[in-house]
Order: sequence, then structure tokens, then C-alpha cells
Amino acid sequence: MPDYDVVVVGAGPAGSMTAKWAAKGGARVLMIEKRQEIGSPVRCGEGISRPWLDSVGVKLDSKSVAREVKGANIVAPNGTSFYLSEKMAGNEVGIVLDRVFFDKLLAHDAAKAGADLVLKTSAIKLLKSGNKVTGVKIKSFGETKDIKCGCVVGADGYESQVGRWAGINTNLAPRDITTCFQYRLTNINYDPDYCEFVLGSKAPGGYIWIFPKNEDTANVGIGMQLTKLKDPADVKKHLDRFVLADPRLKKGKPLELVSGAVSICAPIDKTVGDGVLLVGDAARQIDPITGGGISNSCKAGKVAGEVLAKATTEKNFSAQSLQRYEKGWRDLLENNLYRNWMAKEKLVTLTDDAFNKIIMTLNQVGVEKMSTFAILKAIQTKHPELVKEFQEFL
Ligand SMILES: Cc1cc2nc3c(=O)[nH]c(=O)nc-3n(C[C@H](O)[C@H](O)[C@H](O)COP(=O)(O)OP(=O)(O)OC[C@H]3O[C@@H](n4cnc5c(N)ncnc54)[C@H](O)[C@@H]3O)c2cc1C
Repeated sequence: MPDYDVVVVGAGPAGSMTAKWAAKGGARVLMIEKRQEIGSPVRCGEGISRPWLDSVGVKLDSKSVAREVKGANIVAPNGTSFYLSEKMAGNEVGIVLDRVFFDKLLAHDAAKAGADLVLKTSAIKLLKSGNKVTGVKIKSFGETKDIKCGCVVGADGYESQVGRWAGINTNLAPRDITTCFQYRLTNINYDPDYCEFVLGSKAPGGYIWIFPKNEDTANVGIGMQLTKLKDPADVKKHLDRFVLADPRLKKGKPLELVSGAVSICAPIDKTVGDGVLLVGDAARQIDPITGGGISNSCKAGKVAGEVLAKATTEKNFSAQSLQRYEKGWRDLLENNLYRNWMAKEKLVTLTDDAFNKIIMTLNQVGVEKMSTFAILKAIQTKHPELVKEFQEFL
């Protein structure tokens, strides 16, 4: 008999959600995490919207929420901004998390549902019988050990190895990678009730974000398409230039630095194999426009956990049985991911002038709520040429 029904590799949002819903449904679940503290160090801007939380059964506690914001400003290269008031932005702008607490909250939910959890423990190889994954080799406190299971879940983030080991193609072309750099800046003079997104040549192929954490502290970050950078390290220079030129930020002092990357690719073809499944950043489920991945990781994690619970009852972790996950997450996310990928392909080609026009258009026609869909719809009214490649999705 295998040691566990399910071994989840990685205790980020995707892993914890998968572990929770699989354990809730009766699976024997082990979640392993290579770091010694869940959620730390943070590699995230920590911005999320609120409405999806209920649908995945997450109840935020006060520690997980650093700041609830009232709205957002989207700023054009010429400095004009489109302001989403609280009323317009509604719940969509939402929350700046404390991810150290948020990730722990999700892991706590997984543990409460019955999942075992070990830290400072890395997956180093998949165990296989032919093409079928039968378990995982782990390294824990200097010792290696084989864990047999029905299904290994690769929830191991952007740099996922589980997918590669399983022979699932998760490769990214340079154009499908956004390189990020972020300061947690304190001693700033910034309105803590609003998030800000700065578009155009200050962040070629991406954007700059300001997400307030408290009265005088915010996550100030930049994401740029890798192909727009001669040297990936230059991303920091772009952010430094922005910070120094902004009177609200230039006296800011860094409390924390974050560097990392996100995928901005179209949905990948396959996320399951015999005895293996990928979820979250490992499955390239990040929104290709915003680079936001927390909500999609949680949504896909819930689907994965539920499918794995059924697979446990049926004692069938074949690729065919796991197709229910493939279908489930695609039904939920794929159209949006695909539409936003196509929109991203267009957005990365736009000039500053075009962004100025877009912000002007948004100010003229307004948008009903803060969502990529609503913004693209609004752009369509005056500049259908900018969205014509993907108008069938609008
Ligand atoms: C700079 C930056 C800013 C971002 N800002 C936002 C934002 O504002 N809003 C948003 O929604 N998203 C944001 N994202 C994306 C978001 O952080 C991810 O989409 C989200 O964390 C994905 O969750 P996950 O569980 O799939 O992966 P992760 O959170 O990356 O978790 C993966 C876990 O797996 C562990 N792991 C990896 N390999 C192994 C192994 N071999 N063995 C054991 N454990 C392993 C890692 O230590 C990690 O804990 C940002 C990303 C970056 C880089």
C-alpha cells in the first residue's frame, strides 16, 4: 500500500488548496515544502480582488489582510490617470495581503482538513514505473527517502521541476516571461487607499505597481517582458528611475527587496499524466496581463483537490481519471487566460501614444468594474482595432 494517496510538492496557495480539498474528501495527503517557513520570503506584490475568495472557501483573517483599498488609478505615460472609484471598482480592487500570514492561513486550513505537512523538505526526483509516476524522492534534513503515493501534485511554483521530471512541457519562451523587481518602501507619502498601475515605456512590456501596505509603506514593483530587457538585471534600473522621479516615493526607504518572474504564456496543452498533476504557477495558470496568480492558483487547487479525492475513492490516479481536473480548471479559467494572453500580445506592442489614448478612452466611456474584461470592453468601444484579434472573447 502506498504511503499516501497524494503528495503535494510546494505549500504555496496552489499546494495548500489542493491539499485541503483532497484531504477534506478523504484522501491521505502529505504536503512538503522546501522552505523552513511557509509564505516567507514573500515573492509577490500581494494584491488580490475579493469576490473569488468565497467560491474557494477561503475566509481571510485580520492578519492576512495588510490593507483594504478603496480603488485604483491606472496611469498613462503622459501622467493622466483613469481613476476607479470605490463605487466603480467595487470589490474587484480589494485587498493587499500579508502573504506570510495568508499562505500560513491556507496551510492551516489544509492541516485542519487532515493533510500532513513537513517543512525544509524538497522533492528531488519522481519515482516511476514506466511512464507512470508512483511517488517522489524527497530530501529532508539531509536524509533522502522514497514516498510512494497515488498521485504527485506539482505545486512547486514558477520554477517547477515536477512538470519537467514528469515529461510535461511547461517550457517558456523568453517572450512569455515577465521579470519582476519590487521594493517594500517605507517613509513614502502615498495615498494608502488606492492601488496604482503605471503603463507605457516606464515599464516596457509590463507595468509598475504601487500596492499600499499601510499609511506610509507600499509594495512598489515593476514587471517587464524579458525580451524588452538587454540584461534582466536592468529591471531594477527602470524601477529606481521611476521611484526617484516620483515625489511621493523618492524619500522612501526599502524594507524588503523581491525579485522573481511570472509566466505570461497562453494556457499550456497538458497538466496531467499518469499519477501526476500540475497546479498554480507550475501549470502556468497566471493571468498573462496582470501577472496575478493567487486567485487562479486557489481556484485550480480546489478543482485539483476535489478530483484527487474522487480518484482516491476510485483508487484510480491514471491520466484518464485526472482528465477531470484538466477539464475542470480549463472550464473555469482557460477562456480568460487565452483572451488575456492575446490581449497581452497586443499590449506589449503599444506605443506611449496608444496608452495615452486608451486612458483617455477609459475616462470618456468609463468601465463598470475593475476587471481586465471590463477594461478591454471599454477600449473596444472607441478603439476596436486594438482588440480586434480577440474580439470573439469580448
Ligand atoms: C514579484 C512578483 C509579484 C507578484 N505579485 C502578485 C500579485 O500582486 N497578485 C497576485 O495574485 N499574484 C502575484 N504574483 C504571482 C503569485 O505570487 C503567484 O501566482 C502565486 O504565488 C502562485 O502560487 P503557487 O502556489 O502556484 O506557487 P508559489 O507561491 O510559488 O509556491 C510554490 C511553493 O513550492 C515550493 N517548492 C518549490 N520547489 C519545491 C520542491 N522541489 N520541493 C518542495 N517545495 C518546493 C516553494 O518553496 C514555494 O513555497 C507575483 C509574482 C511575483 C514574482
